[in-house]
Amino acid sequence: MFDDRFNDYKPTDYSDYAVNEHVTSPDELPTDINDNILRPTTLDEYVGQDKIKENLRVFIHSAKERGEALDHVLLYGPPGLGKTTLSKIIANEMGVDIKSSSGPAFEKNADLVASLSNLRGNAVFFVDEIHRLNRTTEELLYPAMEDFVVDFTIGQGPSARVMKLNIEPFTLVGATTKAGNISAPLRDRFGIICRLELYTPEQLALIVRRSAKILNVNIDDKACIEIASRSRGTPRIANRLLKRVRDFAQFEGSPTVTVEIADKALLRLEVDKLGLNNVDRTILSTMIEKFDGGPVGLDTLAAATGEEPQTIEDVYEPFLMQLGFIARTPRGRIVLKGAYEHLGYTYGNKAVERNLLNWNSGDHND
Ligand code: ADP
Repeated sequence: MFDDRFNDYKPTDYSDYAVNEHVTSPDELPTDINDNILRPTTLDEYVGQDKIKENLRVFIHSAKERGEALDHVLLYGPPGLGKTTLSKIIANEMGVDIKSSSGPAFEKNADLVASLSNLRGNAVFFVDEIHRLNRTTEELLYPAMEDFVVDFTIGQGPSARVMKLNIEPFTLVGATTKAGNISAPLRDRFGIICRLELYTPEQLALIVRRSAKILNVNIDDKACIEIASRSRGTPRIANRLLKRVRDFAQFEGSPTVTVEIADKALLRLEVDKLGLNNVDRTILSTMIEKFDGGPVGLDTLAAATGEEPQTIEDVYEPFLMQLGFIARTPRGRIVLKGAYEHLGYTYGNKAVERNLLNWNSGDHND
């Protein structure tokens, strides 16, 4: 049923690789802009993250009953897990407006004052990448979050005057991939702090099924699971893979996306059975071949693989750790047995075994 044309497909130039790696990037890409139709709009439609949903349900219900703005909410976790989606759901469930922005957008204090003073009726103010707010803008937020006032400076030099401006109660929903980069005073001003987890294949299969329905794609259950289990625990990737697999099915003239089509399409996109892409495989094989399985420091690993340390830490590592393929120790990253087996290497690395032994025995500093 699947055309032989795909069997001997080999990427022929750099741009092919670039396309393939993008497919499994958890970051938002220009091709994702139409994904708004796929966003769930209520807590009931939002798949997974059960504890967060149940808590939010209670807080939203109570705040609405009191006629107050919901407490400020901090959402953190890797990209593509549904933080932006959740901010819109919060506004929708509260029945209030939402204004969205992002940390780096506030170059001057006046930008933030303008945004805050335009909020009405317990609105949600969503700030993505909140860890990237500059220091003075962040400090302006403190009294705004606590007492709904902002200190606004008029004029310059000796004649400058500080005015207090009252703003309407609002809910700040901050999102970040780097909770560790948020200052303690800012973090302490959030009443509700939620950490989003990577999704299980079963949860992602529900998301694929739901998105397929919205996109009018016929897909069988096994194909949903196949796509889900190769999506790195990330809904954004699951939706993207679904769209690419749909293209292959259409090209083949197949009315339904079957598991065979999904498998072949994903192999062609160089997404392996577990969802690893070329960069994941390079990271693991570099650690195994050049560093004897580790421990290896983040900067050394970045230099050896040609990736940015931050990218390795934020994008690749969470998933490789979830798979149990690498672990962090105080002396650096190590590759674990499952990764050797998955990539076809023989496990038997003395350095790793020694390191794990030290780690398990609590001897973390030698
Ligand atoms: P983030 O802001 O964390 O980077 P988004 O909220 O933009 O992620 O989510 C990325 C995409 O994944 C959205 O288009 C949405 O359709 C989908 N998505 C995220 N979380 C869920 C979920 N829990 N249920 C269904 N779809 C989801």
